[in-house]
Amino acid sequence: MAEKETRQALLRQIPAIDAVVLLARNDPFLQNISKVILVRCARRVVENLRADILSDARTISADHLDDTHILEKVRAAVKTLLNPYLVPLVNATGIVVHTNLGRSILCADAVEHMVAVASRYSNLEYDLAAGKRGSRYACVEETICELCGSQAAMVVNNNAGAVLLGLETLAKDRAVIISRGELVEIGGSFRIPDVMAKSGAILKEVGTTNRTHLKDYEEAIEKGTGLLLKVHKSNYAIEGFTADVSLQMLVDLGKKYKLPVMEDLGSGTLIDFSKYGMMKEPTVSDSVSTGADVVTFSGDKLLGGPQAGILVGKKDPIEKIKKNPLTRALRVDKLTFAALESTLALYRDEKIAIDSIPTLRMLTLPVEVIEEKAHSLARMLDDLREPKLSCRFLRLSSKAGGGALPELTVPTVCLGIKVKGISPNSLEKFMRQNTPPIIGRLERDLFVMDLRTVLEDELSIITTAFTRLLNKA
Ligand SMILES: *Cc1c(COP(=O)(O)O)cnc(C)c1O
Repeated sequence: MAEKETRQALLRQIPAIDAVVLLARNDPFLQNISKVILVRCARRVVENLRADILSDARTISADHLDDTHILEKVRAAVKTLLNPYLVPLVNATGIVVHTNLGRSILCADAVEHMVAVASRYSNLEYDLAAGKRGSRYACVEETICELCGSQAAMVVNNNAGAVLLGLETLAKDRAVIISRGELVEIGGSFRIPDVMAKSGAILKEVGTTNRTHLKDYEEAIEKGTGLLLKVHKSNYAIEGFTADVSLQMLVDLGKKYKLPVMEDLGSGTLIDFSKYGMMKEPTVSDSVSTGADVVTFSGDKLLGGPQAGILVGKKDPIEKIKKNPLTRALRVDKLTFAALESTLALYRDEKIAIDSIPTLRMLTLPVEVIEEKAHSLARMLDDLREPKLSCRFLRLSSKAGGGALPELTVPTVCLGIKVKGISPNSLEKFMRQNTPPIIGRLERDLFVMDLRTVLEDELSIITTAFTRLLNKA
């Protein structure tokens, strides 16, 4: 009862939006801000206050609603609004290819090349040798073919676009045979059956979720069949009583019936990760060498480059794909080409690629190096001499992520932090709202940071954030 009355009283005290705008007009920091922005921010402040009171009136008192506090909130809202929404942050999740956090970090060469190409005109579609119009794909096609062993290559906006384009070109209005075990959904918005429908191809599922045999495909082939499709089960694995038809077997079947075969590799790697103590994952070259007509994969997953979808394969189908008018709608920007060209160039020497492409470096980072980073951070936090703060080392595992490889997890070392007097939830929120944000996770009542994905120069950012937190606490 009493609480309800307090709540009503507080709600009545919230000033009107116009009154807040008027107040802001006389504030030295706010007086040069346009009316449109002031109104937007005043509305946000008023709405937030209302929501806070309604959710828990105890956290708000009457003096939170006085002019000084309101103005402070408006100033903060204006600052937020005028600052960019998209900001760099510290990924302490250990998930290397984290789709919510921008997937792959670009290598230094790629960033430098992007900036150079962005700030001046370029030969994007101009053949400097011939002095006339050239191909937009020329800057990467040869390198991709060389690295994947393919006859031809093509690049579009992302792998979802590559799959759509491949299906539309090779199998519109015809049946595409695919195993039931491969009708996957990736990251909520990409579902193989939906992409298939949008391409105009007709889905023909065969086999069962756990077992599909060659004869299932063969029996489904009929006059209207256009394509045999294999999709990498990127983000899940079936164990137990399973049977799968290899790409090679599908390619042989395709030859027998004169049908093209396409594989969506999803992540697609140019490097054999089993050399680095991880699970064997077929490379793009492995897929191409089966004789598959088209193989598609992402630019920003295990490749470690910019967002892109890469199609490689035989000359005829890729040339057909290039001529599809849809290509124009999925066209890649010059910045992407610059980043992709520089990233691919590093793959000519695998050791250089592993050392300089952040996604590869993080995935193959020896656990001792991660442990050393965890110890450095613990020492830096220890130097704060804050009895309230305690650290624990946790031996857990990191994921490749990005719907990349379900079984690609690697041992790692995390630092779990507790601060006396601050709940784990508040700690997580403080770090998330820090500038720059620090994204970790809550586990066993600790704020856990996986050091695999934390860059060396970010250790001091984390330490500074804890200093700020402890000064406030
Ligand atoms: C990630 C993924 C896609 C989508 O690739 P984007 O580059 O994100 O568009 C498609 N298929 C598979 C199997 C994937 O893993």
